[in-house]
Amino acid sequence: MIPFLDLKSLNASHRQELIEAAVKVLDSGWYIQGESLVTFEKEFADYCGAKYCIGVANGLDALTLTIRAWKELGRLREGDEIIVPANTYIASLLAVTENRLVPVLVEPDKSTYNLCAVKVKSAITSRTKAILPVHLYGQLANMPAIIELARENNLLVLEDSAQSHGASIDGRKAGSWGDASGFSFYPGKNLGALGDAGAITTSDEELFQILKALRNYGSHEKYLNLYQGVNSRLDEIQAAMLSVKLKYLDQETQARRVIADTYLNNISNESIILPLPPSDDALQLMSHVWHLFVVRTSNREALQQHLKEQGIQTLIHYPIPPHKQQANKAWNDKSFPLTESIHREVLSLPISPLMSVEDALAVARACNSFSACG
Ligand SMILES: *Cc1c(COP(=O)(O)O)cnc(C)c1O
Repeated sequence: MIPFLDLKSLNASHRQELIEAAVKVLDSGWYIQGESLVTFEKEFADYCGAKYCIGVANGLDALTLTIRAWKELGRLREGDEIIVPANTYIASLLAVTENRLVPVLVEPDKSTYNLCAVKVKSAITSRTKAILPVHLYGQLANMPAIIELARENNLLVLEDSAQSHGASIDGRKAGSWGDASGFSFYPGKNLGALGDAGAITTSDEELFQILKALRNYGSHEKYLNLYQGVNSRLDEIQAAMLSVKLKYLDQETQARRVIADTYLNNISNESIILPLPPSDDALQLMSHVWHLFVVRTSNREALQQHLKEQGIQTLIHYPIPPHKQQANKAWNDKSFPLTESIHREVLSLPISPLMSVEDALAVARACNSFSACG
């Protein structure tokens, strides 16, 4: 069997170091908001090229609390519009609606599945106050163009970097482009904890200070509450796990790239659309971290079945777009044809730092022997 992602083996490859780090936390007697958190926050801010990092409980909270902080700072208000890609994971939208702002869904670029500045521009109204680009599947949206557009229109930019730890354009990484960036360290993400965890990166000191309070009951100092905050802290034990895993992130990304290159060079089936490099020349220096290797085909269920019969596990990211979800009834009648076709056609092939090239070649052969007509 070729698993989609063998998380158990991946974490086992760091077993000794993870155990040592966990024991250190155990023996410290200090389990929340201590040294491990401060250390990881510094390491991750440095890694991303941002001044500050604020650890939180998960990726959704990272996005939700950032919008909340901008409301506290008077930079956003209830009812303001935030532009969000229509094909994102539902978390990006929930962060907006939870704050009673209005997500404006925009179709992605059809080759990269990410927001592009042209379509964003045509969605800007007098109520638009922010753009929330999602770096889907491990590749940055066209951030130089999106940032320029944001500056011209006085908009905030919140990156959703949950799938793109370490992805960059011109050497500048996810988490360093926007006014703030939300990360998830859900176990299956490229940088994954052994449980839920998330973080915000920013270089804005005012935002940094308020977020540190918001995640901890709105308090900087025990029993002094400045805001009606929440409890969304990143546990010491998870911070310690993340510090271990961060050391190996670039190496693991490199291993993912080898698998992706193997797929790109060996899958040659006309009915399967491979991920495309961005068409914009200015983005040639872009680096993809291959959180997911997503192909498209008109008969996705048949391809998934064909691969399954050969012992290859695949997943779908994602089967139903947010605007068609029961949770979002108000948008169910809206039409985003490109997004809907993406959700009908995408299939994620196995990819992980531990996957062998032989296995990747076997997946490529299985893809090549697929016939869309059955
Ligand atoms: C995983 C993910 C999130 C949410 O992260 P959690 O830690 O699960 O809350 C948000 N946005 C995107 C694009 C994601 O992939």
